[in-house]
Amino acid sequence: MIPYGRQDISQADIDAVVEILRSDFLTQGPSIAKFESSITEFCGVRHAVAVSNATAALHIACLALDVGPGDMVWTSPNTFVASSNCALYCGASVDFVDIDPQTYNMSVDRLREKLEVAQAAGNLPKVVIPVHLSGQSCEMEAIHALSQEYGFHIIEDASHSIGGSYRGSPVGDCRYSDITVFSFHPVKIVTTGEGGAALTKDDELAEKLRRLRSHGITSDRRIMLPRPDDEIWNYQQISLGFNYRMTDIHAILGISQMTRLREFVDKRRAIAARYDAAFAQMPVKTPWQHADTQSSYHLYPLLVDADVCGKTQKQVYAALWQAGIAVNLHYIPVYRQPYYEAMGFKPGYCPEAEKYYRQAISLPMFPTLSETDQEHVVAAVAKAVGVRV
Ligand SMILES: *Cc1c(COP(=O)(O)O)cnc(C)c1O
Repeated sequence: MIPYGRQDISQADIDAVVEILRSDFLTQGPSIAKFESSITEFCGVRHAVAVSNATAALHIACLALDVGPGDMVWTSPNTFVASSNCALYCGASVDFVDIDPQTYNMSVDRLREKLEVAQAAGNLPKVVIPVHLSGQSCEMEAIHALSQEYGFHIIEDASHSIGGSYRGSPVGDCRYSDITVFSFHPVKIVTTGEGGAALTKDDELAEKLRRLRSHGITSDRRIMLPRPDDEIWNYQQISLGFNYRMTDIHAILGISQMTRLREFVDKRRAIAARYDAAFAQMPVKTPWQHADTQSSYHLYPLLVDADVCGKTQKQVYAALWQAGIAVNLHYIPVYRQPYYEAMGFKPGYCPEAEKYYRQAISLPMFPTLSETDQEHVVAAVAKAVGVRV
C-alpha cells in the first residue's frame, strides 16, 4: 500500500538518536534548547517552546492567553479535532467559522460577518485559531486586522505548515498572531515521533508557556514569591501546569530533521507540481494557491465533484484503495463528530466545509514518494474518473 503520508528518516537521524541514548540526559537536557533554537532561527521568532505534541501546545497556548470558563474560542471546522478540543480542555466554549471554497481555510468574510453578529449579541471570541490547511497559510493580515478591531487573540494552528511562507516570511514568525503551533507527528513536515512547539515573540507569553509545560514550576527568582528562608535550591509552583515536556530523544531527532526542512518542502512542492500538471486535463479540482502564500504541502487534497466528474468521491476513494493507495479524508468537519453533535451542533452548520468534506481525497504526499509510485497514483485516479491516459 502507498500511504498518504510518512516520515523520511535518514541514517544521520538514526545515528543522532542512538548517540543520545548513551549521553547523560534523556530528558530536560541540552537538546531541547538546541531544537528550539533551530526552530526560532528558521522562523525568525524570539521563542519556541518544545512540548510533547501539538495538542499539548494548543492547550497551553489557550491557557497562556487566559482562556477559561465563560470564554469563547473560534476555529475552522475543516481541521483535526485538536484545534477545537484545546478550548474545551480550558472549560471554554467553541464555535466554528466556515471555510473559503478556494483555499479551504477559514473564510475572512465569514469571520467578519460572525464577529459583527457576536458583537451585537455580546459574545465575541477571546481567541480565534486559524488553521493553515495542508500547509497553505490563512490570510493572516486580514485576520489580524479584525483582531485589532474586535479585540481577540490569535493562535495559528500551523501543524501542517512549518516550512511554508506568507507574503515572503516564514510561517511561525508570529507577525500576525500571539502564538503559532507546530506538530512533529510522523505524517507532518518534520518529525520527532510525537512532538510539538508553541512559538511567540512575546517574552511574557513564552515564560508562561514554559511554566505550563512543566507543572507550573519556576526557579526564576524574579517571579518567585519571597520566602523568609531564601534557600538556594528553592523552586516554586506558582500556577497549575502539566508534564508536557519533550524528551531529549525526541528533540535530537527534531534537530537532525530540521537540517532537511527545506529539502523536505522542496520535494513536496515538486510532487504537488507533478500532480497539478497530471490532473489539469481531468474533471477533478487541484488545490488552488493564494498568491500571498507558499504552501509546505503537508496534504494534497484532490476534489471530486460528482456533477462534474460523473463519479462520486466515495467511488474514487474506494477505487484508489482497490489500487493499493491508502488515501484519506482531511477533514470531517469537527462539529460533525458525535461528541460535538451531542453539544448541539447540527449537520449543515458550515455549508462550505461540508461541501469540501463530500469531495476531498488526500492523495499520497511525502518526500520519499517515488516518481513511479506517483505515476501509479495518477493512473489510478485517471482510471477511477474514466479518463484515458
Ligand atoms: C496533527 C494536528 C494536530 C495535533 O498534532 P499532534 O502533534 O498529533 O498533537 C493539531 N492540529 C492539526 C491541524 C493537525 O493536523
